[in-house]
Amino acid sequence: MKCPKIVHWGPLVTICLIAFHTLGTEIVLYRTWRDHEQPVYHSIVHMGLAFMLVLSYLCSMYLGPGEFPMAWEPADKREQLQYCYQCERFKPPRAHHCRECGTCCPKMDHHCPWINGCVGWKNQKAFVLFLLYVVLDGFHSMYIIGWRAYLLVHFGLVWRQPMLFADVFLVGSVAFAVWLAVGVLLFFQLRIVLRNRSDIEAWIMLKADDRRQPEEEPFAFPYTLSRRANFAAVFGPSPLWWFIPTASHGNGLWWDVVEGCDQYTLTREQLAQKRAKRKEAQLMRVTQPFNRGWFGCGWGHQTWRTHPSMDDERLAVEVSDLLLITRDKKHWLYGEKLTSEGEDLSMADRAKAHGWMPRTCAQELDTHSDEYAELAGEYFQLTTKPVQAVGKSTIDEETNADMEAETKKNL
Ligand SMILES: [Zn+2]
Ligand SMILES: [Zn+2]
Repeated sequence: MKCPKIVHWGPLVTICLIAFHTLGTEIVLYRTWRDHEQPVYHSIVHMGLAFMLVLSYLCSMYLGPGEFPMAWEPADKREQLQYCYQCERFKPPRAHHCRECGTCCPKMDHHCPWINGCVGWKNQKAFVLFLLYVVLDGFHSMYIIGWRAYLLVHFGLVWRQPMLFADVFLVGSVAFAVWLAVGVLLFFQLRIVLRNRSDIEAWIMLKADDRRQPEEEPFAFPYTLSRRANFAAVFGPSPLWWFIPTASHGNGLWWDVVEGCDQYTLTREQLAQKRAKRKEAQLMRVTQPFNRGWFGCGWGHQTWRTHPSMDDERLAVEVSDLLLITRDKKHWLYGEKLTSEGEDLSMADRAKAHGWMPRTCAQELDTHSDEYAELAGEYFQLTTKPVQAVGKSTIDEETNADMEAETKKNL
């Protein structure tokens, strides 16, 4: 049975922090204020902000990023779309596959462990509002707590009431740390909304610029409209609803685009990037097994020291497996398994068989050998062909995970 979404370390830690902050501020407020009128007003503001904060948090978690129909497939344009081999369906423009959620997410921004899910099309507004209310509530709490701390010091009560001062200090420190961290996150999220461009899309744009010669026209990002229109695309046109955590605007499938672009401009660029990447790939043969473990014989300390992060997928390989390597670091290789124990893998299996492995596990094939000529003819020709007869892109899923991993490292 699947666990409820809230039963996960992210939401549990978040809820504990919210409870600590809300109750802590109230306790400080009532224990230290002498004038019994003012705490009531502050308490009303504080509890009001805390209520909106919790509401936005629950909405961003339970609305989720949204989903599209399983059988969605525009018949005439499918050769311009990416195909997700994990979900076995076409991905609409701006959708990406999330490994943690195990599904394709419309207008994916990032996977957030604090809400135990992705931030995408449907919950983007609620998520930004959650950050906003955390910042506003944190600011209000710091005002209350800072003022009380000043009075305690001013009237020399610190040593007479050390426990009270410790409470004020602890609640104030947590409020400040959370306010600062969430404030930075809010700044970046508002920038994403006003540009209408997620971090993953910013990475695609970087690659698009890299791919073009200086004399070529730069790639036009199709979704950045005016700031007002970008904001309305997420928060809706009516200011009455801007501060209420409802589902974001739109349908998660189609988006307004700038003149000269169409719904498939970005997906065509993504497919072109993947084809270009394939052309630079290397064929390698596994010479030492790797079982995705953290230690291995003959790795050397550099391989251990430069281990990919916990989030990065690692690929188990056996001796004689054939690999297509698409990225490399000094001590690690990233690629897909093409064959296993002499058997060709199906496209679906290959889509799942991606990851990092130590460089010491594999060797490049001799490019002058007959074996290489035969294999390259088979795999490069197949994998660089843009479209199969059935219309599914032969370029598989590897680069979504790949791009997301690189995005994280490059931001
Ligand atoms: Zn998918
Ligand atoms: Zn996710």
